[in-house]
Amino acid sequence: MKSYSSARDEFSGMQGVFLDANENPYDFSLPLGEGKREGINRYPDPYQSELKKVLAELKGVSTKNMLLGNGSDEVLDLLFRAFCEPKQDNVVVTSPSYGMYKVLANLNNVELKEVLLEEDFSLNADKILEVVDDNTKMILLCSPNNPTGNSIAFEVIERLLNNANCLVVVDEAYIDFSTKSSYIEKLSKYNQLVVSQTLSKFYGMAGIRLGMCFASEEIIAILNRIKPPYNVNSLTQNKAIELLKLNKENYKQEVMEQRELLSAALKKLPFVVKVYPSEANFILIKTTDANGIYNKLLEQKIVIRNRTKEQLCENCLRITVGTPEENQLLINALNF
Ligand SMILES: *Cc1c(COP(=O)(O)O)cnc(C)c1O
Repeated sequence: MKSYSSARDEFSGMQGVFLDANENPYDFSLPLGEGKREGINRYPDPYQSELKKVLAELKGVSTKNMLLGNGSDEVLDLLFRAFCEPKQDNVVVTSPSYGMYKVLANLNNVELKEVLLEEDFSLNADKILEVVDDNTKMILLCSPNNPTGNSIAFEVIERLLNNANCLVVVDEAYIDFSTKSSYIEKLSKYNQLVVSQTLSKFYGMAGIRLGMCFASEEIIAILNRIKPPYNVNSLTQNKAIELLKLNKENYKQEVMEQRELLSAALKKLPFVVKVYPSEANFILIKTTDANGIYNKLLEQKIVIRNRTKEQLCENCLRITVGTPEENQLLINALNF
């Protein structure tokens, strides 16, 4: 198919008299007369060139290997829509993992094959390869994994990339909290590798909705053909450019320290059976009574995530690492 050709596709210059897109010529957010092309009265840049330049620098990847979306949820949805034939193809995911994969598969009428992780939440590549068939179009991996917090071993992902004849998508929503390096480094080696990241977690911009997809130029070109032309609004583009300049090293350091402090404090509680190691900004714990603890915390207006219904997560709770004050409030509240 051909993609929609917008006014901003046909002329992308910044200077001129713009009577091409039926926009209101006035930017009501500015004093009258100011702002020609960048105002909120104008359609946003459909290819987010300025923002991509900033991200390219930050991530060490060419803008040609990048697609941006309205959150990584949109990026993943575009992958389903571009590569999976409804009622015919399938995708393989691990369980437990991020719940949105199942929603997207259902929404796109694509079969979902779930492969159970091991007891320690590691992934056995053979179990994935066993269920991959001719109609498998994607293997969707989350590393570090939500809700378990561990990364998938490098050798496991390599094995899948070398042996499966489909896209291997690595969702790296939590990569910035991890000591492991990003799979972005491997893009030039594997042309069926797709890496997704987001500004929603480490970068502190969940509210502006910006997801990133890194892949071969060929894959990016396909996704660009089907993406809604103005999927990333101008407020998001501008805010992201502004806030990406800030140094986040202190925050990273704080999360690492607080994660360890919180883990140590949780281990001491009598009803905590296990504190799983984490490479992310959350901790998964196994308890003697997840529902009871969850409800008791709610009574004190402290909200965590009850994951007891997930496979392998019976009586498990997921706790986000908050500010030092918030974490202390949680620990105090847990000393029932
Ligand atoms: C939070 C999260 C995301 C982020 O999604 P956005 O749509 O970018 O906010 C993606 N994947 C996983 C596994 C997550 O936990």
